[in-house]
Amino acid sequence: MDSGMTPNLRVDGDRLWSSLMTLAQIGATARGGCNRQALTDEDKAGRDLFKQWAEAAGCTVTVDEVGNIFAARAGTNPAAAPVLMGSHLDTQPTGGRFDGVYGVMAGLEVVRVLEDHGIHLERTVEVASWTNEEGCRFVPAMLGSGVVAGTYTREFAYERQDKSGRRFGAELERIGYRGTTAAKPRPFRAMFEAHIEQGPILETSATTIGVVTGIQGAYWLDVTLEGVPCHAGPTPMEMRRDPWRAAAPIIESAFEIAKAHAPWARATIGDLKVSPGSRNTVPERLIIAVDLRHPDRDVLAKMLMNFRERVAQHAARANIGARVEEVWHMPATTFDAELVGIIDRAAGDLGYSRMRMVSGAGHDSLHTAQFAPTAMIFVPCAGGLSHNEAESAQPSDLAAGANVLLHAVLEVAST
Ligand SMILES: [Zn+2]
Repeated sequence: MDSGMTPNLRVDGDRLWSSLMTLAQIGATARGGCNRQALTDEDKAGRDLFKQWAEAAGCTVTVDEVGNIFAARAGTNPAAAPVLMGSHLDTQPTGGRFDGVYGVMAGLEVVRVLEDHGIHLERTVEVASWTNEEGCRFVPAMLGSGVVAGTYTREFAYERQDKSGRRFGAELERIGYRGTTAAKPRPFRAMFEAHIEQGPILETSATTIGVVTGIQGAYWLDVTLEGVPCHAGPTPMEMRRDPWRAAAPIIESAFEIAKAHAPWARATIGDLKVSPGSRNTVPERLIIAVDLRHPDRDVLAKMLMNFRERVAQHAARANIGARVEEVWHMPATTFDAELVGIIDRAAGDLGYSRMRMVSGAGHDSLHTAQFAPTAMIFVPCAGGLSHNEAESAQPSDLAAGANVLLHAVLEVAST
C-alpha cells in the first residue's frame, strides 16, 4: 500500500447517509423514528441488509452463538490481531435512526472506502454488530457484548425472556442468527465505536468530534428511612419521628456531592416511595431511589462513601432508622489512552473541532474494553435527544465522525 495516499482519503458522506436512511426504513415509525427491537423480524431484516452490504464490500461475515455479527475484510498479515469497529443495529421501541446504527454504518463505510481504493491494510479490519444492546426487549442491556466479555454466560443470555415470555435463544434461532462461532474474546489490536453523543454537550459547544475518554460508572442506591407513623393533627412536631426530616437534607446532600465533583459527577433522585402514603399520617417509611455517577472509579467510590456518611448523619440527627442498599453498580470504564490519543490527533489533522469528554450512557464499548483496547468517537445530535423518534444528526457531522474513524483505523491497522 502506498502510505502517501491515505492522508487525503475520505469517506463518502452521501453513501453513509443513504445507508443510514435505507436502514431506517426497516421498522420505520410514523413519527420518523425506528422500532427495530432485538431479534424481531425487523432486526432480522436489518441484519440481513448489513450482511449483504458487508459481503458486497469484500467482507467475510460470521455470526457467533449469541448473534453478534462480525464482517471481516482480510488484512495482508493473517497473524496480526484485527482492528474492530462497530456498535449495534437494534433500537428502542420508540428509537431513533442513529443510535447504534451509526457506529455499524460508519464501520461499513470505512470498509467500503478501503474496497473502493483497493487498499489492503496489514491487519484485518472487522465491523461488529452486537446483539441486544438496548435491553428494552430482553433485559439486561449490552447483552451480546457482555457474553463475549464474560460478564454473562451464553446460557444466561439464551434464557432471557421478553414480556410475552419468548426466550432470547429461541428468538435468535427463529430469525436465523444463532451462529456457531464461540462468543468468546479474541485478540484485537483495537476496538473503535462511533456513536451519536445522546447528550447536548457537543451541540451546545459547537464541537464536531467528542474524543471519548471513558464511560461513567454508576451506583444505584435505595435509601430506606424508617420513622414512626402518627396522626398529623394531635402529634406535636417535637415528638415525631418523621423520616422526611432526614430525607430532605439527604436528598440535598446528594446534589451537593455531585456539585463538589463537577463537571462530570451526576446525582439523580429518580423515585421516592412513601408509605403508607396518606396526607394526614406522618410516614412510617420512605424509600429514595438514588443514581450517582462519575467517570473516575476512585471519585465515584468517594462520592458513595460521602453519601453514606451524610445519610447516617442526617438520619441520626432526626432520630430516624436508615439503611443504604446497593441495587446495581456499573464500574467506570477508562478507555485506552493510546487509542484516545489517536482519535484526538486524527480529528485535529482532519481539521475538526474536538473536545475530550466522557460518555454518560452505557455502550458495548464498556464490555469490549474488558478484552480489547477500546475508545469511542462521538458526534453531535440535535438537542442532545436520543431514545426518541425525533433523534437527529447532521450528515456533515456523521461524515466527520466516520472520517475520524477511518483515519484512526488506517493508523492502527497499517502496522
Ligand atoms: Zn447505542
